[in-house]
Amino acid sequence: MDSCANPGLMPIDDALTKMLEVITPINHTTNKPLSDTVGYVLAQDLHSPINVPPFDNSAMDGYAVRIDDLSTTTTLTVVGKSFAGIPFSGDWPKGSCIRIMTGAKIPAGCDAVIMQEQATVNGEEVNFSQALPLRKHQNIRTLGEDIGQNDLVLPKGHRLTPRDIPMVATLGIPSLTVLNKPKVAFFSTGDELQPLGTELKDGEIYDSNRYGIKIMLEKFGCEAIDLGVIPDDKVKLRQTFIQAQQQADVVITSGGVSVGEADYTKEILEELGKVGFWKIAMKPGKPFAFGQLLSQDHSSDAIFCGLPGNPVSAILTLYILVQPLLAKLCGHSNWQPQPTIPAKAMTGFKKFPGRTDFQRGIYSINEYGQFEVSSTGNQSSGAFRSMSLANCFIVLESERGSVEAGETVTIQTFAPAFYS
Ligand code: AMP
Ligand code: MG
Repeated sequence: MDSCANPGLMPIDDALTKMLEVITPINHTTNKPLSDTVGYVLAQDLHSPINVPPFDNSAMDGYAVRIDDLSTTTTLTVVGKSFAGIPFSGDWPKGSCIRIMTGAKIPAGCDAVIMQEQATVNGEEVNFSQALPLRKHQNIRTLGEDIGQNDLVLPKGHRLTPRDIPMVATLGIPSLTVLNKPKVAFFSTGDELQPLGTELKDGEIYDSNRYGIKIMLEKFGCEAIDLGVIPDDKVKLRQTFIQAQQQADVVITSGGVSVGEADYTKEILEELGKVGFWKIAMKPGKPFAFGQLLSQDHSSDAIFCGLPGNPVSAILTLYILVQPLLAKLCGHSNWQPQPTIPAKAMTGFKKFPGRTDFQRGIYSINEYGQFEVSSTGNQSSGAFRSMSLANCFIVLESERGSVEAGETVTIQTFAPAFYS
């Protein structure tokens, strides 16, 4: 049935395609100290300048031997030591061995290390009968076995994670060239919205969207510019749009994109740029606006995303529709949405065909290793507790109707941007 049940609604994939088409990834770069690069995107392929490990070394505390020496005897004499950072570099005659520690350089000619637990020490003599037979290169970590010199270790477009930092450090690289973070200016619109820490008067509510939008933009790898709450006043809104466009690559608003009398966004944007007001075949999140704010010489053009005002809708559309756009803008070329997983519905879910539903759910894994999912309760687009309680979306396909407990549904677990 697709969106036929709701004619005029744009399927999510079509909206994403149209949005991604107009995005050109950032190309300005900065060089940053390695420890400051988490969350940034690599501007160039990173090749290893060295072999890791840079020399053959011992994986155990024990004894470095030549297998051949143990073909006629089980006892060898210790004639030297190789410690981590203090290698043994002398000669060691036939019938001898070298005491060696984990990470120490393998002495020339050694082809096996015997762990000390398999050795019986008697003065300078060590008996290895428990360790025989030996395997060639046992307990030896060979030069370049982890990373070879010139290997591609991280590709251009990779977003750096905490796990990458020690890996790059093993290569001795102190700083990386990364893409600058895109600047995203955002503001809330609405006469009813008050900042936190103030007392609410009759008819007012707290502006919650802006707080969520800020942290999510930062998690997505953007520089977030908070322009506050703008009342439903055409002149002030227009001024703010111009100010936002001048300082940012992307302008995000929440509220004012539906068809209420105080929803001026559409009007202003028609003046300032190219704007498509869409109704997306998703629930919540139907009213969503996308477009471009244009400057005369195109030097300060910006992308515009207008999120619906309802708190669940605002954060959901930011996550599902705007996140892929920002990933592309960041140059994060291997960005992927979270995978979807089949799960058994433990509760029923009310739904009408015609839009893809993103109900908020709590999944767990049962004793048979299967995913099960329950609703968080009230699924109103104004009830944000449903998002806070959830650990996944229950993605109910557009054509699907209500779901009974026991049916299989698709869940999408939250990405770290949402979860931690
Ligand atoms: P609108 O899209 O402006 O018509 O707003 C739809 C609903 O979302 C209304 O109930 C608004 O009061 C509410 N809303 C709009 N913006 C915010 C915000 N920043 N924080 C919390 N609720 C909001
Ligand atoms: Mg409003």
